[in-house]
Amino acid sequence: MPSAEERREELKAVFRQASVCERCPQLASTRQTVVFGSGHADADLMFVGEAPGANEDKQGVPFVGQAGKLLDQLLGEIGLTRADVFVVNVLKCRPPGNRDPLPQEIDNCQDYLFRQLDLIEPRVVCTLGNFATKLLRQDPSTGITRLHGREEVRVIGPRAVRLYPIYHPAAALYTRSLLDSLRADFARLPELLAQDPPPQPAPPAEPVVEEPELVEEIEASEAESQLGLF
Ligand code: URA
Repeated sequence: MPSAEERREELKAVFRQASVCERCPQLASTRQTVVFGSGHADADLMFVGEAPGANEDKQGVPFVGQAGKLLDQLLGEIGLTRADVFVVNVLKCRPPGNRDPLPQEIDNCQDYLFRQLDLIEPRVVCTLGNFATKLLRQDPSTGITRLHGREEVRVIGPRAVRLYPIYHPAAALYTRSLLDSLRADFARLPELLAQDPPPQPAPPAEPVVEEPELVEEIEASEAESQLGLF
């Protein structure tokens, strides 16, 4: 099991790799910065949004515009700040004109998100809106209107997390009823965080020792006995 310090160092390595990513030629040529994510590297709670907008692209930090202000306010209402959580997006680069992420872009970028999830080890992963929810549930046909506010244990990569889909704050900026739902769903986060971590899947079996290594060991010990070593 890697220590928190080792996971933090590895997260920095993933950041360095993502910050020069060119997997999506269009996004790599139109972005100002790669918005990797920000917050506590060992957070229990992680938020996954959609993609950076213009402000995020300029500042290199997720959720710094209007939707981010609402996120901060809702966090404050449950006694948390951005420093307590980790915030990321499905896409690390801004789609030009804030268009929807393309399936190929999501494919190209998802490995960074999965590595962030693996290294930060959150207990609760809150998906904001449809893109993050569909990706992390691996179900493109069930949307946020049906799923918001319903937690479920999901195995993502090697780890199980409590996945908690809620509305995207940007959607709630313009529709009062969505804001009420978002606030009500947010209010349940402390209860989810207080639950025991979900049971983890069994770690992969120890690798089987290869025959040639055994032969080498036997040969090495024979050689030592021939030399008269103890
Ligand atoms: N919307 C998102 O999904 N992410 C951001 O970082 C900002 C707005």
